[in-house]
Amino acid sequence: MKSHFRVLCFLGLLCVSVLNCFSLEREAFTFTNYDLKVSIDPGQQRLGARGKITLRNDSAAPQKLAVLQISSSLNWLSINALGKPVHFVSEPYNSDIDHTGVLSEAIVSLPDAIASRRSIDLEIAYEGVIPLNATRFTRMDTPEAAARSTDWDQIGPQLTAVRGIGYVTWYPIGTDAASLAEGTDLFAVLSRWKQRETSSTMHLQLSVSTATGTDREQPELLVNASTCPVTHEAEGQFLADCDYRSLGSVVPTFVIADYETVNRPDIVVHFLRGHDASAVNYADAAEKILPLVADWFGAPRAKAETADLPDADSPPFESGSLLLTPLAGSGSKLAGLIATHQLTHAAFSSPRPWINEGLAHFAQALYIGQQKGRPEALDYMGTHRFAFSEAASDKQAATPRSEDEANHSLINTADEQLYRSKAMCVWWMLRDMVGDLSLKKALASYRAEQDKESSYMQRLIQAQTPRDLEWFFDDWVYRDRGLPDFKVESAFTRKMLPEGYMVTITVANLGAAGAEVPIVVKSGAEAVTKRLVVRGKSNAVIRVETLKPPNEVVVNDGSVPESDASNNTFKVDPSDIVK
Ligand SMILES: [Zn+2]
Repeated sequence: MKSHFRVLCFLGLLCVSVLNCFSLEREAFTFTNYDLKVSIDPGQQRLGARGKITLRNDSAAPQKLAVLQISSSLNWLSINALGKPVHFVSEPYNSDIDHTGVLSEAIVSLPDAIASRRSIDLEIAYEGVIPLNATRFTRMDTPEAAARSTDWDQIGPQLTAVRGIGYVTWYPIGTDAASLAEGTDLFAVLSRWKQRETSSTMHLQLSVSTATGTDREQPELLVNASTCPVTHEAEGQFLADCDYRSLGSVVPTFVIADYETVNRPDIVVHFLRGHDASAVNYADAAEKILPLVADWFGAPRAKAETADLPDADSPPFESGSLLLTPLAGSGSKLAGLIATHQLTHAAFSSPRPWINEGLAHFAQALYIGQQKGRPEALDYMGTHRFAFSEAASDKQAATPRSEDEANHSLINTADEQLYRSKAMCVWWMLRDMVGDLSLKKALASYRAEQDKESSYMQRLIQAQTPRDLEWFFDDWVYRDRGLPDFKVESAFTRKMLPEGYMVTITVANLGAAGAEVPIVVKSGAEAVTKRLVVRGKSNAVIRVETLKPPNEVVVNDGSVPESDASNNTFKVDPSDIVK
């Protein structure tokens, strides 16, 4: 919200200071390292933080101002550079990146302008409370209960559960305003932040003081860091010394609750009092789907960790090794679906989101397919598809720009809808094209540490199949060519001797992305399915034999995402069949 700040300047309130109003770039700095000591007092809902952050100027211009943002329920105490206090102005800044809908923004006048690519350390201190707050949803008329189920973050005596970027700004960030009302706006701001933070690290020392003198057991502290040993100090105090290796893919999150645990060889479930049966149910579901996951992705390499949320309507949240999900009230089917995703992460990991998340969602489709069959699996993928089809049609309305083709590609995108939902469909299409066995072999040969080039995965799959996959990866992974739009152009039927019919079908793809798509020829209750590759902006022809006269030709069974599926059916007029 540059304009807001500018207004203040025009009013002459701040312009006499060293602040240069017209060069306030909130995203100029990358926060490359955090070294924070955070103390939490659940009884008072308080959080106090001190420490050092390192900011690198990743803009082209020198920066005299730095913007540090924390949640509006926290206050800035001090900001020092080179051991001396620096001048800063703290103001509320509206942004839906925080659950309160507002950030406490400190605009810091740096001692010297920081040149491009140079860094500065700032010593910071801030404190405040983190109560439950769903203002960003309730102010756009989301029903109170739904808003609170979604934004469940809080520090409290019963439960402390606080997620970082995108939920509660409990460590400083620098971002442009994000609005939930603007649809994909919040997504874009979060994507840019995560992209900038890919190589950023955090050293977090958490100290928690809990109520003493009660008969309550020592609560558990869970943190989703790369490493995080917890030590119990004196009575009622415990400490954790945690390291995050990359903040690009993890949302730093901590949870403190009186959990009990179900501990199995491949999964540990932390559950809240009274949820014993649900916790066992979840652990059972996880063990039941383990063979499916192991068959596709190998045996779990890390123990999956699940923690309970008290509100049964809260959507699951995963980050790093930790999954937070309400255990009570989730039937075994939902438990199976969630556990499939979680165990896939435990078995297979990749630094590339389209592989890491795409496969975990693909595994969920496999699970539905195994439980109920292919049509249900395709329906399940269809519900995911809505999100990115919308995004695609928005983009196609505008003139496609070549930089968007690269930026929105699966290999580069930080957009969740693409690297989760679209990637899931891409994995399903690959499976249909090369077959289960080849894809499983390719995945088994994957080594995350060797995944240096964008073509690495393609080469592994290519090694298992004689088929050319270059065009497919070009259209779906390396570039964003949007979605295909199939249409049955014509179906010409001829009676054969001594029996049967030959149908010659021409399929057009009006979209720019090619795909191999199922063609179904129906003759009453009977159907014959063949597969046909139709490249982007082209036609392809296939001949299909049937025993009875065909009455309908349908392109795509729902396994290939499409921008327009309303033109996929062709009715065969019986009088057109050549005898
Ligand atoms: Zn995931």
